[in-house]
Amino acid sequence: MFFKKSSPLPSQLVFKEQTIVLRPLRRSKNLRLMYNAKQKQFNLTLPLYATKSDVEGFLERAESWFEKKLKSQVKSITPHHEATINVIGMPYKVHFQKDIKRKVIFDSNLVSVLDPKEQFLPLLEKAIQTKILEFLTQTSETFAKHLSVRISKVSIRDTHSRWGSCTSTGNLSYSWRLAFAPKEVIEYVCAHEVSHLVHMNHSQDFWKTVESICPTYKKHKTWLSQNGRQLFLYTF
Ligand SMILES: [Zn+2]
Repeated sequence: MFFKKSSPLPSQLVFKEQTIVLRPLRRSKNLRLMYNAKQKQFNLTLPLYATKSDVEGFLERAESWFEKKLKSQVKSITPHHEATINVIGMPYKVHFQKDIKRKVIFDSNLVSVLDPKEQFLPLLEKAIQTKILEFLTQTSETFAKHLSVRISKVSIRDTHSRWGSCTSTGNLSYSWRLAFAPKEVIEYVCAHEVSHLVHMNHSQDFWKTVESICPTYKKHKTWLSQNGRQLFLYTF
């Protein structure tokens, strides 16, 4: 049992050592358990009329799914001193140190981040975001030139739902988490979004356009669907 029968539904509960946040929703008809990788928590949406025994019964039935999910998704890595992180397909050893001229310096295989420790992670995160934005901008512009289309703006977001998006006015937006993907995979995502400036759909012609600028795109598309979740492994 997760809570006493007499108590009202709590706003959260602990199941298998994980916090589950209960979200009663007017429009929800069934109980639904989801893992939010960004918040690193499980959310259980449920109809307003759901009872405690509904919740308990549901969690018991969801147990094997829950454990599988725990194994595959809850892991996270916080970069630490001497850790190696891959950024745009290049391994970098992380060093935090005093007495460096800039806050973050990317060298051939080393990223030095200025001490003090409490600022280390936000500084590193920001530097990786700057680096990936630069790469995404350059790559998108190269592809745009090939396809004779114009890009207005490239930006990054912390999105979990999609790797990239594109408006008809030429605004491209990417998940900065692509920084942790292999270089060719990032290039594929750029090829995909820029090709939308030619075809705003996923028609055969669209994929032909993608192929014309990224001939090995199928491989990278598969990689992303199989390994995309790994890109959220790092927490800062
Ligand atoms: Zn698309």
